[in-house]
Amino acid sequence: MAIKVISFDIDGTIIDFKYNIAFWDEAIPHLYAKRHGISLEAAKKIVLEENDKVGQKDIRWYKPSFWFEKFDLGDHKTILNDLKHHVNIYSDTVPALKSLHKKFKLIVVTANTNEFVDIKLEVENMGSFFDKKFSVIDDFNGIKTPDVFKTVAETLHVLPEEIVHVGDDPQFDYVMPRELGINAFLIDRPDAYELFKKPEYRKNVDESHIIKDLRELVRKVDEMGT
Ligand SMILES: [Mg+2]
Repeated sequence: MAIKVISFDIDGTIIDFKYNIAFWDEAIPHLYAKRHGISLEAAKKIVLEENDKVGQKDIRWYKPSFWFEKFDLGDHKTILNDLKHHVNIYSDTVPALKSLHKKFKLIVVTANTNEFVDIKLEVENMGSFFDKKFSVIDDFNGIKTPDVFKTVAETLHVLPEEIVHVGDDPQFDYVMPRELGINAFLIDRPDAYELFKKPEYRKNVDESHIIKDLRELVRKVDEMGT
């Protein structure tokens, strides 16, 4: 079936993890330590423990507003903006978007909240390549499940088979969309999360659906025909 839409994950797919590290792993523990008068090491431990208690299946886990309120850290919006210079686009991203943009509708499907999406896609005006940006957290109150991908397809008036999705998470970007019939590809970059590289976490991924960068995605999509 002809491909009409190419869907992208954000972190680890079109930009690297520098911004996320600066926000989640550095800024939050730092602010927590300052606010509660404890050492940075102690704060890091508490923040991690609290993150784990909520867990990635709970949409609150993805919301900066939830954590800032929970930890009593004040307004999160200024911090989000202050860290903007950490957004770092992979070198193959913009050329791939430029090329694919000519033939297909491009979208983003992400577990970033809309605030993050706005900040991350503002860099190099990347946002202008995308026809639609779906924050599954804010827009569908969910995480990346087959149901959420189904809603995305319905919103765009296309069939799952007419969508290609690419992302770095073997479960949320590959298994979930594939379950619905979306042509999903797993991007396996050198800086991928340790968890994502574990054989047991990627055991359901077909080798032929693993790509190293977005140049390879352009070739894969070409091979699929239009
Ligand atoms: Mg990702």
